[in-house]
Order: sequence, then C-alpha cells, then structure tokens
Amino acid sequence: LLLAYDPAKRLARLQVNLSKSLVGVRIMYELIDDKPVLVDQDGAPPLEIRTGEVEFKDVDFSYGESPALRGLSLVASGGQTTALVGASGAGKSTLFALLERFYDPGSGRISIDGQDIRAVSLNSLRRQIAVVSQDTFLFDVSLRDNIALGCREATDAQIEQAARDANAHDFILELPRGYDTPAGLGGANLSGGQRQRIAIARAMLRDAPVLLLDEATSALDAESESKVQSALARLMKGRTTLVIAHRLSTVRHADRIYVLDRGKVAESGTHADLYAKDGVYRRLCDLQFQTEAAAAGQKKPAAE
Ligand code: ADP
Ligand code: MG
Repeated sequence: LLLAYDPAKRLARLQVNLSKSLVGVRIMYELIDDKPVLVDQDGAPPLEIRTGEVEFKDVDFSYGESPALRGLSLVASGGQTTALVGASGAGKSTLFALLERFYDPGSGRISIDGQDIRAVSLNSLRRQIAVVSQDTFLFDVSLRDNIALGCREATDAQIEQAARDANAHDFILELPRGYDTPAGLGGANLSGGQRQRIAIARAMLRDAPVLLLDEATSALDAESESKVQSALARLMKGRTTLVIAHRLSTVRHADRIYVLDRGKVAESGTHADLYAKDGVYRRLCDLQFQTEAAAAGQKKPAAE
C-alpha cells in the first residue's frame, strides 16, 4: 500500500537527531522531502491571514494514472470546524497534502482568505498551518525541544503554558527528568495518548490560525482519551479546523461536514441535515460509527 502523505514514517527511517539550533519546521520539510521540491514564485508575498477561510475550487489531482481528487470544491469557514468523512481512499489525506503544498493541483485552485496558495511564499503558508495526527513525529530530543519545534524563540514559560493547555504538563513533571526527558526515537518513551498531547502542545505553541487534524482511529484508554479530547477542543477554539473525522462526536460538533467519495464531494451539511437525508453519509455513519451511535442512542432519553 502506498501512503499519500506520511512524513513521520520517512523521518523515522532517517533516524535524525537534530540539535535545538537545527530544529525548525522548514528544515524538517527539507529533510523529509523526497518529492519534487515546490518553489516560490518570484517575489511571492507572505500569506496574509484575515479569518483563515480555506477554499478548494474545482481541484483535480492525481499521483499517477488514476485521479485522487476530481473537481473537488469545498469551503472551510474561518474559525469554524469542518469535518471530512469518507471511505478509505476517498481523498481526505490528499486534500491535506495539497493544502500544505506538498503537491500542486493539476487544475483548479486552493486559496486561503482569497489568496491562491501557489502565489504566496511556501514558508509563510506552512507557518500558518499546524498539523496534529496520530503519528505526528517526535524527535529523540527533550520533550521541551519537541514542543518548541519550529518555535526556536519560545521561552520555557511559553513552552510550559502550551503543555498545560495540552494537558501534558502534569505527566511531564512525573517523568524522571521532567521537560528534559528525551522522547525516545519517534516518541518511544511515551504512551500513544502522551505523544498526542505533546503534538497538541507543539501546535498550541505555534498558534497557527489553520489547523489540520487527522483523528486517531485506534482508541486510547478512557482517561487518556478524555485528556486528549479536552486539549483538542481548546486547540481548535478560534481556529479554522479541518478534521478527518473518525468519531461521531466530532462530526456532530462540526459546523459543516463534507462527505468525500472517490475524490469529490458527495454531500455536505450538518450532521442533522445529512443524517436526515438517508444518503451516503447516513450509510457511512451507520457503518463507521455503529458502536458510538449505539452508545449515544442509549444515552439519548436522558440527554434530550
Ligand atoms: P483517504 O485519506 O481518504 O483514505 P487518500 O487521500 O490517502 O485517501 O488517497 C486518495 C487516492 O489516492 C487513493 O486512491 C489512493 O490509493 C491514492 N494515493 C494516495 N497516496 C498515493 C501515493 N503516494 N501514490 C499514488 N497514489 C496514492
Ligand atoms: Mg488518509
């Protein structure tokens, strides 16, 4: 199986151990990029953020022969949560990869606050976007440096505040060396839920207006899960969030849901709209969210 977009795994192969002075998002991208490097247009201005509205307009893209996105259009309103759902292979991760400009579309246009992302500097684009996924890469440097990745100027106080906001501060202090504890290669010294909270703290510190969130598919233990969820809620607040949703609770709370099917938008609306329509989304819900839906159904009489 080919992975569209898996910098973490490629990085793990490199086994790099970067010193703090070297750690920067740009350097990280340069190290992992085994694809043709996209360059700035001459004199490309920086991206100017207003509300942080993201728009895909008639976007076509293919990795090779068969198209991954086919005339895809969507709008993620500034400061709101937009959920992407769809079967595996529908194009969700590809959409993220294009928004970060790891690839350019074959045709169509991707813009943020009306500016074509190809026309602004790559550096400014990536500075405004934070990504949190279940395999966000941790370097084998201290937790402090992992949180500060891409924010070399961050003070210890700012790093600690980000960790508090991410529900990570308490577990960090319980570790033998606190913030100086090495994460281990790929974060091997931490549990899955702890790694996610370090990734959230990193995104908190970067404070980017656009957040790309790829929800974990595998469940954490209940306590860790609730800490991750409340940290994410805090992180998403006030940002334009695009979330690849694997949970019913996420889609229910989203301002808008886009259902992707074979590279295009099949349906969009709120959970209530789409569920009532009895179409693709309803079937997906019934399949994908069965357990959660059953639990929510049982709670319904009391809650509503
Ligand atoms: P999703 O995230 O919704 O599961 P993807 O965006 O990963 O979907 O994949 C969309 C389509 O693009 C699929 O048909 C997939 O097989 C194909 N694809 C993804 N990554 C690559 C790649 N690196 N090379 C070739 N095809 C790819
Ligand atoms: Mg994917």
